[in-house]
Amino acid sequence: MTVRHNLCRADVLAGRMEHRKQARIESRRKRKSVSGERKTKLNTSLVGGMEDYCVENYLSEDEVLRSTDDDSDGDDEEGRKDRGILDGHSLDGSYRPPKFATTGLPSRSGEEVDETTATATATGPGTGVRKIYYASRTHSQLTQFVGECRKICPDIRIVHLASRKQLCLNDAVRYNSVPGQKKQRHLAGEAIVTERCLDLMKKHKPSSGEKGEIKKRKSSTDASGNTGCPYLPPQSLSSSSMPPPPSLALHSLAYPSDIDALRSLSESSSCCGYYASRTALPAAEIVVLPYTTLLSRSSRSGLGLSLQGNVVVLDEGHNVPEAVRSCSEAHLTANIIDQACTEVAMYAERYIERLAGRNVVYINTIRRVLNAMAKFLRIEEGGAIDEGSKKSASQIFTVTDWLFECRLESINWFQVQKYFERSGLCRKILGFTNSLARSQNRQSKSSGSNLNDQEETFISCHTSALSKVREFLVCLTNTETEGKILVEWPSCSETDESCRKNSIGSSLRYVTLDPAIRFTQLLEESHAVIVAGGTLRPFVHIAMELLGHDNKEALWLAHSADSSDGCAGNDRSAMMKPTTGVLTKDQEANTMDTGAIVVTSTAGRLHFHPSLTTFSCGHVVPPSNVHIVTVSHGPTKSTLDFRHFSRAKNDTVDELGRTVLNICNVTPAGTVIFFPSYGYEATVVGRWKETGLWECLGRRKRVHREPPNAREVEGVLKAYSSDVAAVAPQTKKERGYLGALLLCVIGGKMSEGINFADDMARCVIVVGLPYPDMGDPQLKEKMKILDAVSKSERSGSKGPGIGGRAYYHNVCMRAVNQSIGRAIRHSKDYAAIVLIDVRYKSDRRVWLGLPEWLRKDRESPPSHANFGKLLVDLKQFFKARTL
Ligand code: SF4
Repeated sequence: MTVRHNLCRADVLAGRMEHRKQARIESRRKRKSVSGERKTKLNTSLVGGMEDYCVENYLSEDEVLRSTDDDSDGDDEEGRKDRGILDGHSLDGSYRPPKFATTGLPSRSGEEVDETTATATATGPGTGVRKIYYASRTHSQLTQFVGECRKICPDIRIVHLASRKQLCLNDAVRYNSVPGQKKQRHLAGEAIVTERCLDLMKKHKPSSGEKGEIKKRKSSTDASGNTGCPYLPPQSLSSSSMPPPPSLALHSLAYPSDIDALRSLSESSSCCGYYASRTALPAAEIVVLPYTTLLSRSSRSGLGLSLQGNVVVLDEGHNVPEAVRSCSEAHLTANIIDQACTEVAMYAERYIERLAGRNVVYINTIRRVLNAMAKFLRIEEGGAIDEGSKKSASQIFTVTDWLFECRLESINWFQVQKYFERSGLCRKILGFTNSLARSQNRQSKSSGSNLNDQEETFISCHTSALSKVREFLVCLTNTETEGKILVEWPSCSETDESCRKNSIGSSLRYVTLDPAIRFTQLLEESHAVIVAGGTLRPFVHIAMELLGHDNKEALWLAHSADSSDGCAGNDRSAMMKPTTGVLTKDQEANTMDTGAIVVTSTAGRLHFHPSLTTFSCGHVVPPSNVHIVTVSHGPTKSTLDFRHFSRAKNDTVDELGRTVLNICNVTPAGTVIFFPSYGYEATVVGRWKETGLWECLGRRKRVHREPPNAREVEGVLKAYSSDVAAVAPQTKKERGYLGALLLCVIGGKMSEGINFADDMARCVIVVGLPYPDMGDPQLKEKMKILDAVSKSERSGSKGPGIGGRAYYHNVCMRAVNQSIGRAIRHSKDYAAIVLIDVRYKSDRRVWLGLPEWLRKDRESPPSHANFGKLLVDLKQFFKARTL
């Protein structure tokens, strides 16, 4: 009876469902024909082609599922075309075939790469090979790594991913011409090169005549031409299936090639190295790339990098927390918000009659959000600034508090995100504004006005202001502990009406306080993550940053590794020695290859438990090759105290000058001196020039200064090294000076990633201690959180974490140790390390924060009877090594 009843019921239900389905299909057809008529009417009144930028009828998740069912039954040609627009294939007015994502080539809409299609690139030659992703901070570090791989294993397949600026061959793209001077040109910035390249991608119209004729292509194309880039293999764009890797990609895989090698290869073959490296990606065994590309999920997706089952090596690991933080931050200025407001308003005005009800609701919500943000940033309305204050004011809010301040607390941000994602609103608005700009340009050209695309007037046409706002809004969906909102208002005098009204200089910044949440996502995806570096100690600091304060198990492991060295056999461990922390998944998760990477709890939520292994080994250099000196008083016995209250005093700066001059008298070849900040270095140089000390120094050594501009670093380093090489100790009499002196800044461009081996730095002088600015709201918040955690631990049993003060101190000592580490680069190298500040002697914590190989097991710094004795010891150290 029950069986029959159920069968009947099933029949009835099936009949009802079929009926409902037919009704839905019918109503959908009617809607389409009505909307088609409306479209035709409206299109006649719109600018040609602008109809592509109108957002389609937005459907909620359930409706999307239902409509997919419908489509499978009764879709027609028109419906498929419409779906193409919704899928984002022609959002900026051009068709974007899926192969762009699979080959690593850019989408036609630039930034807006479909995440799901892009991550599908793990197919192709080499798939199934466990890849090693090696990431570091700078390209020079990556080049060094490729060089070492070449020595050890010359037939390993390496791909070095670099930016367009580094690999682009097209001079019309790479250079900006100087107006009025035909022969003069200068290198364009990264953003401009990318924009121009993407423009060429759009213009590329493959034709059979293009094949192979590089010369012809060269002469017929340029940045403003409309046949695309001459250096791009035509088949990459013309073939409908995944193209075979171009010969350049295969060549680059045949022998480990760094950027320079790849560039010269691409120059000799007249083929774009940037895209060749991306084509070679699937077959690579080692992928070498900068942090930003690896740590940002969107960059990984854009390139199609899949970490699934692969190993990630993060070199210079002390930088990783900061890199994770900067990848997950979002910054909005008042200008961007205003621009987004204008874009959305214009868009709504244009399309309001065509938009379906739900679209109107969401677009109005977005406009409301933008207006609330703009209002909040206006000084008069924000009310958080001290009136007439000369200093810019900043305030930090939790996300919830900020939402209440802006009266946006009732908005469901997850739904807004979903709308952005499904409707492709950012891309549509970008296409719309670009189209408007083009038509305005045409008008202005015809009216004779001169609009040059020089750097000053550069406006991105591949990223809309709204997409930046969207990035910020995504952060609002993060957990409350992950980050906060920092609001900065400019300093405006009461008389500066325009500043007060227009909120010029105001900004909103989402700052990440706990990078562990983001880092865990990376850890979950990959098979293992190896964090390596020379300044990882104390392990507990890095473990707390990357695995979170609440991961007690990992923190205790790191804590015990710190106290017991955690190293196999060798006990010469310290912050500075090469140390490696290996973060791997737990025992169950080790079966990653079979997909068993997580443990499912009873509640059905996925839990991930990373385990931590540490490894460390001693320094390669023998202790006798390092001479450490701490200087607390100069030649005239004045105290050298570089705390804020005394470091700018003339007495201190003069005594420092005398100290440096005396040291330069006894040190051969190159000497590098590190100052705590750019500002202080400028103060010191200014004073030395006034007193004539600068001239005296110039007579002893050729003096160079770290340039403020990163582009000039290479030139300064070249000049410095040639002065060091040209002035060997034996030529002292002929030249009258002894080596070269380089003034650098701790944490600057030369304090990391640069090798000052051998004569390049026989002496490293560190002036003061670079404690970070206590007024920095982000640092204050971080310290507050750590203090709260350690306080709660103290109230119970003692925990493994560190407090705010210890964190602050570690940040400073890491920076010092990085600077010191520039000098000793191999086992036969030798150098003197001179630490100038009374605190290196008086504060035991500072001394213990130095690397153990440098302290040589001493509990306190070596003492000298006076400054003269110190110089004699220094002289003897160098004499013993040059004999
Ligand atoms: S395709 Fe390559 S060579 Fe051509 S503009 Fe782009 S980066 Fe430069």
